[in-house]
Amino acid sequence: MKQRPAVGIDLGTTNSEIAAFWGDRVQILKSGQASMLPSCVGMTPEGQLMIGQPARNQLLLYPERTVRSIKRKMGSQEQVSLGEQSFSPQEISALILKELANWGCSQLGQPVTQAVITVPAYFSDAQRQATREAGALAGLEVLRILNEPTAASLAYGFGHSGRQTTLIYDLGGGTFDVSIVNFEGEITEVLASHGNNQLGGDDFDELVLERLLEEFQKQHGVDLRQGQPKAMARLRWAAEEAKKQLSTQPFAQIREEALLQVKGKPIHLQMELGRDDFESMIRPLLDSTLASVSKALEGANLRASDLDAVLLVGGSTRIPLVSQLLLTSTGLAPRQEIDPDLAVALGAGVLASRLDGRDVGRVLVDVCPYSFGTSHLGLREGYPYLHCYKAILPRNTPLPLTRSEAFCTASPNQKAVSIEVFQGEDEDALKNVLIGEFRVEGLQPTEGPNLVVCRMSLDLDGILEVTATEKETGLSKQIFIQGAARQMSDQDIASARKRLQLLHQGPEFEWEEEEEEELEEAPTEPAYQQALELVLRLAQLQPRLHPDDAGEAEELRQRIDRAVKERNLDGLQAASHELSELLFFVESTPR
Ligand code: AMP
Repeated sequence: MKQRPAVGIDLGTTNSEIAAFWGDRVQILKSGQASMLPSCVGMTPEGQLMIGQPARNQLLLYPERTVRSIKRKMGSQEQVSLGEQSFSPQEISALILKELANWGCSQLGQPVTQAVITVPAYFSDAQRQATREAGALAGLEVLRILNEPTAASLAYGFGHSGRQTTLIYDLGGGTFDVSIVNFEGEITEVLASHGNNQLGGDDFDELVLERLLEEFQKQHGVDLRQGQPKAMARLRWAAEEAKKQLSTQPFAQIREEALLQVKGKPIHLQMELGRDDFESMIRPLLDSTLASVSKALEGANLRASDLDAVLLVGGSTRIPLVSQLLLTSTGLAPRQEIDPDLAVALGAGVLASRLDGRDVGRVLVDVCPYSFGTSHLGLREGYPYLHCYKAILPRNTPLPLTRSEAFCTASPNQKAVSIEVFQGEDEDALKNVLIGEFRVEGLQPTEGPNLVVCRMSLDLDGILEVTATEKETGLSKQIFIQGAARQMSDQDIASARKRLQLLHQGPEFEWEEEEEEELEEAPTEPAYQQALELVLRLAQLQPRLHPDDAGEAEELRQRIDRAVKERNLDGLQAASHELSELLFFVESTPR
């Protein structure tokens, strides 16, 4: 075997990565803790070149001395300037490739001279040629230019044997692509591609940024769009951070200190953004990506049922709504066990290793082997059910992993909640395995629903940490469950289920018992069911309610409660009608 290993490089719009066979598997080659190099090049006022994170950092201070998203310009004759000097897109890309090759050289302990470089499936010949040139300028022999969707499929082990068809949904920072790749023996073919090279996470950042600007203007009467480039750059960064937080938690707190001085006094931005709110902002953009998925399937003359897998690629696919929408539209649970930022580079690394003569099947990763979640009161098949299951840590997600979800208390002035931790995939919590439970006492009594955030973390040693926090007060309680990721035997499962049933009859679950009785006795008449749906909808919309509406909504909720208890059907229908109108008004009011 030759001495110098070939590497795989994903030259991305926002970030770039390098992978190679290292140790016993194909891995990402890092620089310190960093596995991604921001695709940014900058020049300091003193004329010093900066590549990657330092350049990304100076973007805030010197936007005119920093180049980002150069991939969009590959294949064009356009020059970009860094301060007083100008460069071709190939030259800027070469600087990024060279930096990655240096990362590789440090980790592998030998120079990196040969690479497989990936490009989007839709790249024209001119764009592919420009990428080759960038490789040559960086001193690399470009062994192959590989299509990104093909690379992602290779990382997942497709294309190793048999006939398989994959759909790759790639939503990055600045581009969206969906491709259908067919593997048959030695032949790999991109059957169809569709997308929008002007759509990505940056657009989501812009939507959040607009919300922050509106809020700042509302709080301080200042429009930062006018002549405040530094404050704008800081807010853009804060918008992206908030967006990322919302992929793993239900709310993001945004606090930017001293954005501006007014009459010598610093003014700050402080606000909260909820995931629901964020999801409705980006929903039209995600709907447009689903239309592209349909077009790609049409173009390949296939139906969703012909696919073997849906694979997620690109940092923006971490947004949970992306998987949810794809599951609904294709019927396949999208796979994301390989870090979506790294899948393309890893796949390029797989091909590079094969070209080096290694028989590499797929990339090996540590993943969450089951879903972990909790039970809650909700609707199941249209009926109220006390043991609905909400998976908080989804199965097959890379470890370590932390996610949180918010839940509402179900009754007024509720002072305690019980958190039951389950392992499994069934939407009925009782069909999953109870692996732990605890109770949070001393909640502040509230008339309306009180939010409790449940956070779960699973580390590489299989230790599951579960924390429940009352959002308003920060009151919290935590448990650790050892060996959560280990496979349960049938006997374990049976005894866990039995224990759960016993617990539900035990005295410490009095509160749930009461709720359960109430629910079990609740009439199944459509009016009662509609009322319950409205109350659940109200709980979800609670954070968006104006204080005046919140008062009215609470009154209506109490009227519904009374009507249910008194079996007063007319009263119930009248209150439900009013609540439904109020909710409709809230939902259709721009936020
Ligand atoms: P890529 O071009 O594939 O490197 O993707 C970069 C994009 O992914 C940027 O817009 C990031 O803001 C976005 N991104 C990264 N992590 C997350 C996350 N956890 N949630 C949402 N978007 C993310």
